[in-house]
Amino acid sequence: MSDVDEAAGEDLTMVPAGEDYPELRQAVQRICAHFPGEYWRDLEEKEAYPTAFVEELTKHGFLASLIPEEYGGTGLKLRAAAVILEEINASGCTASQGHAQMYIMGTLLRHGSERQKQKYLPKIASGELRLQAFGVTEPTSGTDTTSLRTRAVREGDHYVVNGQKVWTSRAAHSDLMLLLARTTPLDQVTKKSDGLSVFLVDLREARGNGLEIRPIKAMINHNTTEIFMDNLTIPADSLIGQEGRGFRYILDGMNAERILVASECVGDGRWFVKKAVAYANERRVFGRPIGQNQAVQFPIARAWAALEAADMVCRRAAALFAAGKECGADANIAKMLASEATWQAAEACMQTHGGFSYAREYDVERKWREARLYQIAPISTNLVLSYVGQHVLGMPRSF
Ligand SMILES: Cc1cc2nc3c(=O)[nH]c(=O)nc-3n(C[C@H](O)[C@H](O)[C@H](O)COP(=O)(O)OP(=O)(O)OC[C@H]3O[C@@H](n4cnc5c(N)ncnc54)[C@H](O)[C@@H]3O)c2cc1C
Repeated sequence: MSDVDEAAGEDLTMVPAGEDYPELRQAVQRICAHFPGEYWRDLEEKEAYPTAFVEELTKHGFLASLIPEEYGGTGLKLRAAAVILEEINASGCTASQGHAQMYIMGTLLRHGSERQKQKYLPKIASGELRLQAFGVTEPTSGTDTTSLRTRAVREGDHYVVNGQKVWTSRAAHSDLMLLLARTTPLDQVTKKSDGLSVFLVDLREARGNGLEIRPIKAMINHNTTEIFMDNLTIPADSLIGQEGRGFRYILDGMNAERILVASECVGDGRWFVKKAVAYANERRVFGRPIGQNQAVQFPIARAWAALEAADMVCRRAAALFAAGKECGADANIAKMLASEATWQAAEACMQTHGGFSYAREYDVERKWREARLYQIAPISTNLVLSYVGQHVLGMPRSF
């Protein structure tokens, strides 16, 4: 499966990691250059949201790259969007503070009514509205999504929502939230995945009117929150698509999410390797650069090899996605391999820096903390392996 750059007629699978879409990468790098390590360290101390950074990405149309041109976006391919996120992380910035808009928007685009698309997409593209919050996980249901307890009950021209979400990132900095809630009780559906519905909640109206957002203090500055909904009333036309089919809509968007997150991991990994190589070449111990020792050099080289392999699967997954072909296995495998490769790179970078890795000013420990997340969220490694075991290799379902 080749991924051909239509403009250049070049087979992109021949290009090393970090080198396809060079102009797009350079444009992203130019923005990221204005947001150095100090910016991210300062945010972390204040537990603040990178508003200036997200606004800059929005202004240049990067967060609207998957919104079709007819709705004010730039209508790029998924691989181009993945490259944007990869390059942000490879530059030392943090794409996760804005990434959700790219994949959450897909649910609205694919399953929303024309009226909903006209109402929201152009404003999301222009930055007038932020769609950065995705409320799926609950305190008692993470991996087991279909057992979620948030209920939305139709009453005339509105729904009444009761329940709780956890780890809803960026909710306090978003105007809209995509919410997954149960509309038909579990004991009245034949399949657990039936009876769930997706809503686009206007947080500006909901906050203080039945919806409360509380920040969670976390290991990384992810602006993540808990959301409490107590008789929250939302208009019936907040429903996306058909009632009861929400889980399928969410699953539809997951391949794009996996591919985008995998690319962010590749970007982080490239940052770790570059940083580790620079330090290994510069730091002298026993009268020679530490990188001259194979025990220092090999873990970095091994991490780079793993990143190259993960990057190839990311590109294949993105190419299959763009061609409208089945890409669930590739998207999941790409995410797993990339999250593991970046962790390898993070560990190598940490170890190469010795004690100085603990000094905040090097940014290594910050990136190291951030990189660990992707073996857990948005889907854990075990769940990817069970997908491969069951759906690719044909072994029994384990849960
Ligand atoms: C910083 C951060 C940001 C997040 N942002 C969001 C967000 O914006 N929106 C949102 O909805 N969610 C978000 N999440 C939640 C995230 O998607 C979940 O944490 C993740 O899906 C795992 O769910 P859990 O934490 O409930 O783990 P659990 O489901 O409790 O699982 C715990 C562990 O057990 C393993 N496990 C469970 N069942 C099995 C099984 N059958 N076989 C093998 N292993 C199993 C899992 O792999 C995992 O390692 C975020 C989480 C974090 C930490």
